[in-house]
Amino acid sequence: MRSEGIETARRILCVFPRYTSSFGTFEYAYPLTDGVQAFMPPQGLLLIAAYLPANWPVRFIDENIRPATPEDFEWAEAVFVSGMHIQRQQMNDICRRAHAFDLAVAIGGPSVSACPDYYPSFDYLHVGELGDATNDLIARLARNQSRPEAQVVLKTADRLSMTEFPIPAYELAETRKYLLGSIQYSSGCPYQCEFCDIPGLYGRNPRLKTPQQIVAELDKLRECGMTDTVYFVDDNFIGNRKAALDLLPHLVEWQKRTGYITRLACEATLNIAKRPEILQLMREAMFVTVFCGIETPDPDALKAMHKDHNMMVPILEGIHTINAYGMEVVSGIIMGLDTDKPETADALLGFVEESRIPLLTINLLQALPKTPLWDRLEKEGRLLNDDESRDSNVAFLLPYDEVVSSWRKCMEFAYEPARLFERYQYQCEYTYANRLKVPVAPELKTWPNIRRALIMLRNIFWKVGVLGDYRKVFWKFALGRLRHGDIEGLIGSAMIAHHLIVFARAASGGQQNASNYSIRLREASVPAE
Ligand code: SF4
Repeated sequence: MRSEGIETARRILCVFPRYTSSFGTFEYAYPLTDGVQAFMPPQGLLLIAAYLPANWPVRFIDENIRPATPEDFEWAEAVFVSGMHIQRQQMNDICRRAHAFDLAVAIGGPSVSACPDYYPSFDYLHVGELGDATNDLIARLARNQSRPEAQVVLKTADRLSMTEFPIPAYELAETRKYLLGSIQYSSGCPYQCEFCDIPGLYGRNPRLKTPQQIVAELDKLRECGMTDTVYFVDDNFIGNRKAALDLLPHLVEWQKRTGYITRLACEATLNIAKRPEILQLMREAMFVTVFCGIETPDPDALKAMHKDHNMMVPILEGIHTINAYGMEVVSGIIMGLDTDKPETADALLGFVEESRIPLLTINLLQALPKTPLWDRLEKEGRLLNDDESRDSNVAFLLPYDEVVSSWRKCMEFAYEPARLFERYQYQCEYTYANRLKVPVAPELKTWPNIRRALIMLRNIFWKVGVLGDYRKVFWKFALGRLRHGDIEGLIGSAMIAHHLIVFARAASGGQQNASNYSIRLREASVPAE
């Protein structure tokens, strides 16, 4: 239950740090939208904001949208921060700025839970999920809001059941400024892929909210103005298949009740392709994208990383099956594996062509704390955690320069405009054509909504179709979509394609990190002051 019975009110400033420029946040697509400035509302901080005692005023700042100002810090009595490893430098910077106002600063979330020693300056470390540590933190701040003499580490031993989670405080976020909405149904994953920290951090037996909670959250997201695409941030949407089957009919009902104006997306293991009963319901619930950690098309590599479940159906067949239910597959790919050979890059490029997946997040292997990979490499003396000149903390078996140049080659090939738009063309003609046909909801025919679409079209036509250096390729694709009256396919594909093309050019020119988790922090990442 929400923390109650605390009479002293404290003003809490929740600050979400900026992201380092990265492939997965789609920042180059933002200028083509009608004002998007950030990726997704952060679940963790908004959940904590909702969990605080009802009489505690909360201010939420996402520094991807605007920096916390001196006035914000002056207003606050304590500051809460949360984020991932990639935001480490920015989190430490927020702490420094808050301390300039003599405020106590608490940090929670996945990064500090895995690596408390990354955050020596914070006053309170909240390690683990929402639970007794959270109640302890609230009680301590209620008693005394000033900075403790030494750092206090609070570890959750007794986690709050997800069925008792409050609805995240979406009302505090400027939802219209996010590319996607976010929602969480479950936490944890039953598998144990060698490189992944999810089972170590959140357990192998997925914890769940109820379908009723999810429907209430979707209603709230809608009330708060988030109507486009909502992403289930669950580590694996089918981590508990029965739970997915319990939830899906509720999502279908919700879509029917609200006129199918929201698109849904999630992350799931590729063996979802073996579950037509789940795919069918996902189609009816208007899931349009599934992120699958395919990692590599090489069966030996999958076996070595303990991801055998990706081989339960032949990979290309699995992708084709998911596409047949109207869902585009987004694929995670890892390079720099111990099983990689000099010919791995070419095999990967063949896979990109054959799978026709437009969006693949191609990363160099990074060893995360709390993973079997970390333990193995540590034993083998192959962890290079202090070398900031590298894009990975793993000593690869192949020479580092060879791995990085293979990665650049793959980025350049995969996101060459003509090739990319060919793959989008296929998605429009095959995958998107398999989606549920629903009448256009009255809400979508309103002037503000039409105006948004017109603004995006204007931006795309001007910035890509007139000023862009790949405009010929773009127009070939765009005119085809216009002839079919497919404005949604045109806007969605062109926006994401633009990000991929621009990012990949920077990457193949050596101006972007080869890993989303890289400790090498680019200048662009430094603080939002
Ligand atoms: S299936 Fe995905 S979430 Fe689960 S352990 Fe593997 S990589 Fe992690």
